[in-house]
Amino acid sequence: MQHRSAFYLVAAVGVVLAAIGVSFRQGWVPPRLSPLPALDMSVAQPWFIDWRLAELRRDPALCSRVLKSPHISATPIIDSPLQDGCGWINGVRVELLGQVRIKFDKLTCESAAALAMWVEHEVQPAAQRIFGQPVTSIQHFGSYACRDIAGRASAYARRSEHASANAVDISGVTLADGRQITVVKGWNDAGLFARNDIGATARKEASDAAQFLRAIHQGACRYFRVALSPAFNAAHRNHFHLDRGPLQRCR
Ligand SMILES: [Zn+2]
Repeated sequence: MQHRSAFYLVAAVGVVLAAIGVSFRQGWVPPRLSPLPALDMSVAQPWFIDWRLAELRRDPALCSRVLKSPHISATPIIDSPLQDGCGWINGVRVELLGQVRIKFDKLTCESAAALAMWVEHEVQPAAQRIFGQPVTSIQHFGSYACRDIAGRASAYARRSEHASANAVDISGVTLADGRQITVVKGWNDAGLFARNDIGATARKEASDAAQFLRAIHQGACRYFRVALSPAFNAAHRNHFHLDRGPLQRCR
């Protein structure tokens, strides 16, 4: 009998803890009730980064406090509540991430914060380490698009995170010296550095680009819940898909 009541107690505590975890993860806990400090974008990988990013989801006041120069230049946009699975709340227009030029007309505050932290703490350090220079602009295929997830049979169709402006598709970067690193070429050129029919300089360039792209893709998984690369499937051969939706996938 005692065993059974101990079991129920443990199960009840487990359910309560799981409910608390889900509430933080979904951004349901109002920041004023949360014991977590507001996100400081200058700190790389702070404690509870995922929950602290999720707190930005529904709170415009917190969003304007957190999204600050010099980390990001962003301005709030008017909400467009979801209709037929498409729309956004608490979105911003993004102009600059640090010194990096990148423009998005519509991006959720939560994804904008993740993107800025990724650029500051992953992309720029990797560029300095591998190329000895910073990235000055980032190219992309957009953020908001009212559509389903690409490449699924219609019976399994489900709205993409792009339909709520909660995802970005990154296609490449430009370095300070003007050199372009694209996902479509750089990722797939990884095999080139093992070949001996091309010059040493071309081999080094292919190796550096491949190493850089793999490093920043792995780094994106620290700030985004989903970070898909060309290794995931053919639909991603030319970009990284990064989102802050409910799923968890780093591939
Ligand atoms: Zn995408």
